[in-house]
Amino acid sequence: MERSKQYVGRFAPSPTGPLHLGSLVTAVASYLDARRNGGKWLVRMEDVDLPRCVPGADMDILRTLEAFGFEWDGPVMYQTARTEAYQAELDRLRAAGMAYPCSCSRKDVGAPVYPGTCRNGVRDLAKPVAWRVVGGDETDDFVIRRSDGLFAYQLAVVVDDAAQGVTDVVRGADLLDSTPRQMRLQKLLGYPVPRYVHIPVVTNAAGEKLSKQTLAPALRMDDAANELRAALRVLGIRPDRCATTPRELLMASQMLLSLP
Ligand code: GLU
Repeated sequence: MERSKQYVGRFAPSPTGPLHLGSLVTAVASYLDARRNGGKWLVRMEDVDLPRCVPGADMDILRTLEAFGFEWDGPVMYQTARTEAYQAELDRLRAAGMAYPCSCSRKDVGAPVYPGTCRNGVRDLAKPVAWRVVGGDETDDFVIRRSDGLFAYQLAVVVDDAAQGVTDVVRGADLLDSTPRQMRLQKLLGYPVPRYVHIPVVTNAAGEKLSKQTLAPALRMDDAANELRAALRVLGIRPDRCATTPRELLMASQMLLSLP
């Protein structure tokens, strides 16, 4: 298929700990899809939720990616350096009447869907406020700046994907719920909507998603080729047996992954 624009993909880990098999599967899928399409592949450190970040985890992630044979294009973007851009977009939404302050705590809301309590005025002026965007058909009014002053992942990721010209997002199905929210923001901010592909998440024997919370073991750099083979197997890829190093395995797999 002829693509009208240059493919730009990305891997966007949160530096909250070392990469595990689940993150490797996501990295491999987005990397192979980008390379197969002759595209760029960017790495972005999603450190917007600063309290959850672990010092040094970013460098550890980059070293791991290198050891696994990945090559990324351009400098690594850090969300902590992007506050002004997020603020500017929040200001734009406010000016358009599409964002409002909200004093409701999670406990006040008490439901998965925000009922719009503060839409016509903040309930409790004494409390620190979060900012919500006015939702659409598929989303409630969700938080884009938290009451602790940090920007929410939903806003950061959309502003960054647009700023970096990302055309194709390949990520875990655990983020499926976020996609309509991100599309809502893209619409309000006048951004193009990238192609989204969600790949199944890797679970442990108890059926839980691999994560820091479920104590997923860190990837072993000294066993990179085998770890990579395991990640490729999850994606249904069995590269040629001649490929032995991580780099060769990735090269040999480039044409073997085909995503919708
Ligand atoms: N930073 C997010 C995570 O690590 C990924 C965001 C995305 O791919 O859109 O779960």
